Amino acid sequence: MTTTTRPSTELFEEAKRYIPGGVNSPVRSFSSVGGTPRFIERGDGPYIFDVEGRRYIDYVCSWGPLILGHRPREVLAALSEAMERGTTFGAATRAETDLARLVVELVPGIELVRMVNSGTEATMSAVRLARGFTGRQKIIKFTGCYHGHADPFLVEAGSGMATLGLPGSPGVPETATSATLVCPYNDAATLESIFETHGPEVAAVILEPIAANMGVVPPEPGFLQSVAKLCRQAGALVIFDEVITGFRVALGGAQELYGLTPDLTCLGKIIGGGLPVGAYGGRRDVMEMVSPAGPVYQAGTLSGNPLAMAAGLATLRALKAPGLYDTLERRSRRLAEGLAERARANGVPFRVNRVGSLLTPFFSLRPVRSYEDAKNCDRDAYRVFFWTMLERGVYLAPSPFEAMFVSLAHRDEDIDETIESAGAAFAAVAEAN
Ligand SMILES: *Cc1c(COP(=O)(O)O)cnc(C)c1O
Repeated sequence: MTTTTRPSTELFEEAKRYIPGGVNSPVRSFSSVGGTPRFIERGDGPYIFDVEGRRYIDYVCSWGPLILGHRPREVLAALSEAMERGTTFGAATRAETDLARLVVELVPGIELVRMVNSGTEATMSAVRLARGFTGRQKIIKFTGCYHGHADPFLVEAGSGMATLGLPGSPGVPETATSATLVCPYNDAATLESIFETHGPEVAAVILEPIAANMGVVPPEPGFLQSVAKLCRQAGALVIFDEVITGFRVALGGAQELYGLTPDLTCLGKIIGGGLPVGAYGGRRDVMEMVSPAGPVYQAGTLSGNPLAMAAGLATLRALKAPGLYDTLERRSRRLAEGLAERARANGVPFRVNRVGSLLTPFFSLRPVRSYEDAKNCDRDAYRVFFWTMLERGVYLAPSPFEAMFVSLAHRDEDIDETIESAGAAFAAVAEAN
């Protein structure tokens, strides 16, 4: 039995009796900002509403998928139409081909694509495929890049130097991460030295072409090109994890924005239009190794689910309308500039990293170009900023290492209201110091 009059605090206590930590994904618990998470009742456009009826301008947008905002008309219509015909068949449907064709059309590096149910599945399957294709074991990942929660990616990165991977979570066997090599982001020189030692054993380098899970950290000029060149020389594959950046920074993702074609691409978040979808795709000769076309096994009972395909298709089709990414760019720039201006006015050390509608406010005087830099930002300042914004009706990620997501539903009025609230939040940060 549920009633909507019970406050979030009470609902959270109840949730903790049945769910580990009260949540189904850790960062929802507010553990890095303290306090009790808000229970959300509904969303509409750029807003979410909690169980106590408070309205928030939402910059989490479900961690990226909701580029059209909450409950966009075209997605709801596609979903109810699909639902009328049944929810799942475990057999081939036309919608799967329609979404695959659209993805191949939009993403430069994808010639064949396989649908899965999450970003985690996409990255773990892409790495299996790279290993199967090259006959090699080792992979290289970058410090501060997140590729979902599969074992080989859960690696403690050490002191910013390249290290052999050690498991970053209990339950991950050393054998699962011993083939994972770790390199600082934006550090092509260290990557080159790793290749000098391990080159012939490296199956793939996997990276976020724009890092967005240590806060937004864009690639330095030439970094992605160096990664591609070193991989080519060593016979390793390049895997772009575009689970966040895909359809976000451009229709064709970061690879379109920077004019680079990875061997494999991982997608998630926006591709499902708010339903659980991931995908991996790439070069035809590599993807033809995937079962049943080839020998590398990968499967899924609900993969290509009709409802998920309908939501994804409706979302990507909507994004093809001309000018939308320019609108996102303009609104996001307005937001970033407004935040920086209010921080300056309050004397708060601050900078914004931004690529398109993906941005992170960092409480730092120095540029943030790596995980080390991100960790050196003022986390207490973020906590004060976060809570002041929340109290004023602006919902930010409850962690300093995340992105703000601007959607097409955020209008100039919402951006301006956010900047107004930020003025008060920066004043609170200045006072707390
Ligand atoms: C969110 C994310 C993932 C994991 O996706 P899930 O759907 O949460 O499993 C992988 N890579 C990146 C870059 C992500 O942002």
